[in-house]
Amino acid sequence: MLMRLVLIGAPGSGKGTQARKLCDRLGLLYIGTGDILREAIRQNSTVAREAKPLIDAGRLVPDTMANDMVAELFRARHPEQFVMDGYPRTYSQAIALDALLAQQFLKLDAVVDLAVSDDDVVRRIGSRRCCSNGACGVCYNLEFQRPKLPNICDRCGRALMIRDDDGEATVRTRLAEFHANTDFLIEHYRRAGLLKEISATDPVETIYQNIVKCLPERG
Ligand code: ADP
Ligand code: AMP
Repeated sequence: MLMRLVLIGAPGSGKGTQARKLCDRLGLLYIGTGDILREAIRQNSTVAREAKPLIDAGRLVPDTMANDMVAELFRARHPEQFVMDGYPRTYSQAIALDALLAQQFLKLDAVVDLAVSDDDVVRRIGSRRCCSNGACGVCYNLEFQRPKLPNICDRCGRALMIRDDDGEATVRTRLAEFHANTDFLIEHYRRAGLLKEISATDPVETIYQNIVKCLPERG
């Protein structure tokens, strides 16, 4: 299924979990700006030195930084089918993405909004464990989605870790950033007729099936 999708939703709503499933099962390219930033931090790049204090504080990085990262990825890989996880996060990023896609004569097929309460987010992120291998990036949950072996990634066998920005105070700031930006973003995609609202409180597989059901038919 040829698809160009954006997943939006609060931190911890399950965007990464669903995006990776969609990529594995539908053969789409995974584009996660959080992952790109964490890789830049591991490499200690110039961008990372500006981004790290913001990420650790639960703030968003500047729009231009996020936009440049995605534009660079398009220049390098020319993806024609993809799932975006965590980009765009602001109205201004959405406008930049529209322009970038228009340059490549591409259009989005759907924007999926994963809806979950702040209390659920705090609980989920409190028990999130992520693969320490940046190229893998799969996340588990001690309560809801345990790995088969304790503290080991099912997919690549590396150790799991707690993300630096997953402490409760930082999660509260991340939620505040999300709420400050999400209305304009959602309205933009609603007006474009692309928005699909999905409850993100069901089990992972149910949510996946609900996402697939709401995708438009395309040749
Ligand atoms: P995001 O990418 O939106 O920050 P994740 O996909 O990393 O969110 O999910 C956040 C946490 O919640 C992870 O620990 C994940 O295993 C867990 N999780 C994801 N989807 C569900 C779900 N439907 N029910 C319960 N826990 C979930
Ligand atoms: P994520 O992995 O999506 O939870 O993102 C982790 C952190 O990276 C966020 O809290 C932000 O600090 C930063 N980040 C990721 N994507 C973006 C984006 N599109 N715009 C601004 N900041 C971002």
